[in-house]
Amino acid sequence: MSHHQVLIVGGGTAGITVAAQLRRKNRTLDVANADGWVEVDHNTLQHTRFPNVFSLGDAAGTPNAKTGAAVRKQAPVLVANMLRVMKEDKVTDDKRYFGYTSCPLTTGYGEMLLAEFNYKNEPDPSLPINTKKPRKSMWILKKYVLPQLYWKGMLRGRA
Ligand SMILES: Cc1cc2nc3c(=O)[nH]c(=O)nc-3n(C[C@H](O)[C@H](O)[C@H](O)COP(=O)(O)OP(=O)(O)OC[C@H]3O[C@@H](n4cnc5c(N)ncnc54)[C@H](O)[C@@H]3O)c2cc1C
Repeated sequence: MSHHQVLIVGGGTAGITVAAQLRRKNRTLDVANADGWVEVDHNTLQHTRFPNVFSLGDAAGTPNAKTGAAVRKQAPVLVANMLRVMKEDKVTDDKRYFGYTSCPLTTGYGEMLLAEFNYKNEPDPSLPINTKKPRKSMWILKKYVLPQLYWKGMLRGRA
């Protein structure tokens, strides 16, 4: 690959299959780590052996809980670093992913809490309220707001 060409390995769990196929068929582009995940730097999402390769989401070898919420934080980091590599052969100095993920946990009928944490399992709240406490507002967020965020924001590259 020239430095203007990049490979992004995503595809969720199918990305792991792709990595396994590359390992079998094309040893020169063996992107997987020992466990089969795509071997990337945990903060830049750039492959540790192939500078033109990036990965995010469920396929990436990052030690975060695999969620769409994590992908939402990873995507801008990957894009910024990928564009910089295509231009200047190096990643940016300021775009890093620190393992943010979030898990909505339904705790009762019409009640939910949002566990948000990073690689170090430290709380990493994104809202100005205590989301660790079960609340009706969190349930409303999950049922009505997050689907809009997903379909109208994330999938269109706006959120
Ligand atoms: C039941 C369930 C509930 C979940 N709930 C939540 C939640 O509440 N909040 C949250 O943040 N996360 C949740 N997740 C996790 C979240 O869905 C995943 O972490 C996220 O979708 C991973 O994104 P991804 O882009 O890596 O993979 P995916 O979203 O799996 O996207 C991969 C895409 O690649 C496509 N693809 C596969 N193979 C190929 C191929 N060969 N060629 C071209 N395209 C291909 C697939 O069709 C798919 O569209 C949930 C997951 C499950 C299973």
